[in-house]
Amino acid sequence: MAPRLYVIVAATLPVCMATCPRCHGHLTDNHRCRRRPGRVAAEITLAALAGGLVAPVFVALFDPGNQLTHIDLAAVAVGIFVGIGLDRLLRA
Ligand SMILES: [Zn+2]
Repeated sequence: MAPRLYVIVAATLPVCMATCPRCHGHLTDNHRCRRRPGRVAAEITLAALAGGLVAPVFVALFDPGNQLTHIDLAAVAVGIFVGIGLDRLLRA
């Protein structure tokens, strides 16, 4: 980790800190724009849909004879949560 340089400024001194042109937050070294709630909701929904669609494909791959008919719904439910979990994990 690279050494960081800090500047000590008196609290009474007016300091103009650069702000982000997108979110108007303080532009610190590790600034990340806040994501809009609608966009986050859309990402979660897409991840859930993708997980729910991929899970039955995995079931079909592991069970080509379609003998495990009772786990289809459970696979979709697990796929939804795994999809959401992976999405959150990769975006953290
Ligand atoms: Zn920003």
